[in-house]
Amino acid sequence: MRIVLLGPPGAGKGTQAENLTKIYGVPHISTGEMFRTAVKEETPLGLEAKKYMDAGELVPDSLTIGIVKERFLKSDCAKGFLLDGFPRTLAQAEALDQMLEELDVQLDTVLNIDVPEEDLLIRLTGRQICRQCQAPYHKAFKPAQKEGICDLCGGQLYQRDDDSEATVLSRLEVYNRQTSPLISYYADSSRLTTVSGDGSVQEVTDRVKAALENLQ
Ligand code: AMP
Repeated sequence: MRIVLLGPPGAGKGTQAENLTKIYGVPHISTGEMFRTAVKEETPLGLEAKKYMDAGELVPDSLTIGIVKERFLKSDCAKGFLLDGFPRTLAQAEALDQMLEELDVQLDTVLNIDVPEEDLLIRLTGRQICRQCQAPYHKAFKPAQKEGICDLCGGQLYQRDDDSEATVLSRLEVYNRQTSPLISYYADSSRLTTVSGDGSVQEVTDRVKAALENLQ
């Protein structure tokens, strides 16, 4: 199974990817998560990426394409992958097509999770993540049983630096300008499947599963 998850920030790509990776047994490749790890570890890549992430901007294509190319070399990708947050620009989409051609494989589909823009701000600014196991929470929609503490592992919950209102607005603008053109890029090559991201996590997962089963 080779899938790209497309959609604006806050559409629930990461949450759906967590569910799908368990169902289909393929690795979840999140460029955002790879950058956050590099930032935490203060590697040269992390120090460079942080400048862009804090401003809600995209990390340059050359760096981003490089980390995905490297990740594809790992043996777990032989079974397939779920790409979350990549590609985000036309240049990245073209580079991905070239990588797939070199590996002689094709995408099963590009799953576009569609959420109205007015819902995204509230989704993103209330988002919390476990520092230890990365489980996602939301202050309003999926609160932890004990405030600030992960239900699963007891780790501390935190808000991503780039989920502040000002940065979220800039990320949405970047999505509209640079990433949303990928919807027609993939539709034009008949590789796009759109599902509504409205409703509960389970409702969206059910919709996604049904859409993927329809492809087979
Ligand atoms: P995400 O967790 O996918 O929302 O990504 C968080 C941040 O990491 C983004 O706002 C970007 O600054 C950076 N990032 C993640 N994926 C990409 C990508 N494909 N291209 C450029 N920047 C990215």
